[in-house]
Amino acid sequence: MIIDTHAHLDFPDYKSDLESVLSRAKEAGVDYIINVGTSLASSEKSVALANRFHDIYASIGIHPHDASKVSEQDWQTLESMINEPKVIAIGETGLDYYRNRSPHEDQQRIFHKHLTLAKTHNLPVIIHCRDASDDCLKILDEHKNGALAGVVHCFSGTREIAEKCIDLGLYLSFAGPITFSTADNLREVAKSVPVERLLLETDCPFLSPQPKRGERNEPAYLSFIIPVLADIYGLSIQDIKRITTFNAYKLFGIGEPEHEGKIAYAIRNSLYINLTNRCSNVCVFCMRETYPIVKGHHLGLNKEPTAEEVIDAIGDPAGYDEVVFCGYGEPTERLDVLIAVAQFLKSKGKRIRLDTNGHGDLINGRSIIPELKGLIDTICISLNAETAEKYEDICKPVFGKRTYIALIQFIKDAKQVIPHVQVSLVDIPGVDVEKCERIARELGVDFRVRKYNVLG
Ligand code: SF4
Repeated sequence: MIIDTHAHLDFPDYKSDLESVLSRAKEAGVDYIINVGTSLASSEKSVALANRFHDIYASIGIHPHDASKVSEQDWQTLESMINEPKVIAIGETGLDYYRNRSPHEDQQRIFHKHLTLAKTHNLPVIIHCRDASDDCLKILDEHKNGALAGVVHCFSGTREIAEKCIDLGLYLSFAGPITFSTADNLREVAKSVPVERLLLETDCPFLSPQPKRGERNEPAYLSFIIPVLADIYGLSIQDIKRITTFNAYKLFGIGEPEHEGKIAYAIRNSLYINLTNRCSNVCVFCMRETYPIVKGHHLGLNKEPTAEEVIDAIGDPAGYDEVVFCGYGEPTERLDVLIAVAQFLKSKGKRIRLDTNGHGDLINGRSIIPELKGLIDTICISLNAETAEKYEDICKPVFGKRTYIALIQFIKDAKQVIPHVQVSLVDIPGVDVEKCERIARELGVDFRVRKYNVLG
């Protein structure tokens, strides 16, 4: 499933073949489309389209180009449409100082009105910003308290502006221009945007992607944008589809989220195994209790799977580069199952990685590394701090003060037996990265810094 979060199918461009456009969208996997109003009439048409087609939802708003033409009565009519059941967003609104079709004061006044309306009704806002970033950010900043949520569509600003939008809690979307051969800068900007804040859009009938540039755009052409985004993020096409669909669900409430935690899930070309949500740490940055979502996968388990259930969930592992015991919990909490599944995977010739907090010995009451010999090819152990005191502050281990010493011993033991050992830390403020790296060097293992809030 994919979602085109910004289309203008009410435009005359689709007058003669809308049904064919929608059927091509379906064939391309576009299950839902948000039709975005640009004027009062266009908003009315968006609502009518949403009422006519199951796959279409409506956003209502008045484009900044028309800001100076909005009468009080127009605004009241727009407001009255908010109760239509398939209206899920406000916009497009914002500022456009490139074409300057309305005076800036009018654009700003109407933008404020849209934002207030969106917040009052707890709806996300779809923002158009062209050559007006400073004023746009200033106005958004004034509205940031409360329920401000939304997307800056067809983002074309700098990395710094993208960062400010992200800090405001907004999503960003990139339309066809991200595919243009001349758009290296835009692709660099996109790379800096967390994929968890990325949405798909075509902005059709405008901005057709390569190789359709110059032609009328349509939702099915998302299939030309997604591979470019996958390349930018180093993810698979399936990853981009799943993550952006989940993001659209979070922002607009449309689509079908996963309700049950997955036992086996793919990211890029690796298969991850989720054995448990239990963990002997309570890291300050961990969201396993509150938000167990990783790259669009739901990892909150209703029940811990048996080895047979895990093997069943894996199916045929042949196509994956490696299998990783990870999930949102500590895999060595279920050492028996881990070993049984690893034996199965080894019988299939798979490379296996274990991501662990390094408490396996404390959890199981014995030195467990010898039991992993010949099964685990790579072990990634979270170090997370340069001292025992700091480790306790950050990770709050249930084993208390003795944990850090046991963790260091676990790394030393792993170094003797496991072919590749890596220690990692999450770059939260206050951790001395250099000292952690020195510890890893002295232990003779690899070292990796993981970005805070980037999982999977
Ligand atoms: S070790 Fe991993 S799963 Fe456990 S609390 Fe920390 S971040 Fe969460």
